[in-house]
Amino acid sequence: MSDRELHCDTCAGVVPFEAPPCGDGHGADCPELICTGCGAAVVIATFAFRETRLASRRAPRRPSHARAA
Ligand SMILES: [Zn+2]
Ligand SMILES: [Zn+2]
Repeated sequence: MSDRELHCDTCAGVVPFEAPPCGDGHGADCPELICTGCGAAVVIATFAFRETRLASRRAPRRPSHARAA
């Protein structure tokens, strides 16, 4: 179990949150937590985002007609 205490606006206090069954395949890295007090779902973003889009990644061009020197 990966409980963690967070502040819940609905519960007006710090309550333990627990990770819900993840249906998105996040596994242990699922950013979703459910308030054990009121059942509200929150998404935490404490994990480091990775840049998945590389800026203009180009393959080096090679001459298609290589000449024998
Ligand atoms: Zn998830
Ligand atoms: Zn709550």
